[in-house]
Amino acid sequence: MADVETFGKALEYAPSRESTAIVSIKPRYDLFIGGKFVEPKSGTRFTTINPATEEPLAEVAEAGPEDVDRAVKAARKAFPKWSGLPASERAKVVYRIARLLQERAREFAVLETLDGGKPIKESRDVDVPLAAAHFFYYAGWADKLEWAFANRRPRAIGVVGQVIPWNFPLLMAAWKLAPALATGNTVVLKPAETTPLTALLLAEVLQEAEVPPGVVNIVTGAGATGSALVSHPGVDKVAFTGSTGVGRAIQVALAGTGKRLTLELGGKAANIVFEDAAIDQAVEGIINGIFFNQGHVCCAGSRLLVQESVQDLVLDKLRRRMETLRVGDPLDKNTDVGAINSAAQLDRISELVDAGTAEGGEVWQPTCPVPDKGFWFLPTLISNVAQSHRVVREEIFGPVLSVLTFRTPEEAIAKANNTAYGLSAGVWTEKGSKMLMVANQLKAGVVWSNTFNQFDPSSPFGGFKESGFGREGGIHGLEPYVELEPIK
Ligand code: NAP
Ligand code: MG
Repeated sequence: MADVETFGKALEYAPSRESTAIVSIKPRYDLFIGGKFVEPKSGTRFTTINPATEEPLAEVAEAGPEDVDRAVKAARKAFPKWSGLPASERAKVVYRIARLLQERAREFAVLETLDGGKPIKESRDVDVPLAAAHFFYYAGWADKLEWAFANRRPRAIGVVGQVIPWNFPLLMAAWKLAPALATGNTVVLKPAETTPLTALLLAEVLQEAEVPPGVVNIVTGAGATGSALVSHPGVDKVAFTGSTGVGRAIQVALAGTGKRLTLELGGKAANIVFEDAAIDQAVEGIINGIFFNQGHVCCAGSRLLVQESVQDLVLDKLRRRMETLRVGDPLDKNTDVGAINSAAQLDRISELVDAGTAEGGEVWQPTCPVPDKGFWFLPTLISNVAQSHRVVREEIFGPVLSVLTFRTPEEAIAKANNTAYGLSAGVWTEKGSKMLMVANQLKAGVVWSNTFNQFDPSSPFGGFKESGFGREGGIHGLEPYVELEPIK
């Protein structure tokens, strides 16, 4: 009988490729402004590609400053009516978005995988259902805001500029739009350059859901478009998800303007495994923590902290499990790890892993074949590293796990907190008192115990320190989108 190590290799997998017939990608896409698709005044376009094949998918409008201005004006014009609607009417619109997303779930999942390279089983089972769940959740709050903020009267802020990254394109759009719309704000959204297509499909859903013209405007483009949006004087609030570097630049640009700001930035989470943990479960949690979505996850468990007494056992089981991961065609339902999102991100990952090797780290990768075309990086384990090494300190945003050890809970806590970030952490132990004692001392916005990467719209998410400020999800996620007046 095949043992665990050979099991994954012994099986021949028949390809199980999701059909792409359900999506019809247009050759070119315009901007979504005032409820309509309009040609960019900038006159320029860029190409979005499929990172698994390097083939172009579509030409997408690049919004220049005059286009951003037009979008902000459309949002301003729509604001009085939208914010003045009875809240239950707004709720109906947001519910309709959720239901339409569910109806067109397969289309969204396939398009997300084509444009961004993530495995279809993740876009199908995580990104799209969670995006719909976010709209459902915040639709429910729309007419209950007085209960969310006791003794204060919440009112919408105005025009919100939202900038999102490429790792969860549709889901991040949902995280941004759902609370903003439920609270009566109007929006200009800027998707990431490499993954604009599901946001543009969402624009069709918004039309179908009868979101009034101008309430949501979508301006595609690169960093310059994002910069034009956040610094536009007609924007009252900025919500940004992306890297700490860009977040810092936005904070500088907004200083003194009176604009409200929330930042969801990077992370370098510790995943702490104690000797008394259920080791097999912990190994699954480590795998999920760092290889889910190719490690393009802000809250990825990219630093494994394993108790010295079980280090060999955990690493042995981890390597065996990594041997079974299937890397390749993201449209194949058997694929665990898809394509790296872009050539630039692949370069960044490679550069940091090379730096890790140069600093003395030992790199281990499984022996999985990868396609010839496209951007790929094998799941990677780096051991023999120190806390001062770049691979341990910097966010890699790829499928790369650094391994550190500890002897006591105090040492684990000190090492886990020894980072400029503070977005998430994981604690694996069978002892409840130890779990709570450790979790209480971790400076991270989310701490998972005996699990990892669990998301729910009712649960707030956000950072400490250089991981940003403000919360998304739950009641907390309403707060950045309302002005609160005392009830006299
Ligand atoms: P990024 O380079 O900061 O980009 C994020 C978004 O900002 C993109 O739409 C980008 O445009 C735009 N942008 C770039 N320069 C800008 C500027 N000067 N002003 C305004 N907008 C600008 O980050 P990324 O590489 O796309 O995403 C990865 C990062 O996001 C990671 O650090 C990750 O941890 C973080 N992230 C955080 C969370 C969270 O919730 N905390 C969630 C997901 C990701 P283009 O890319 O189109 O040029
Ligand atoms: Mg793309």
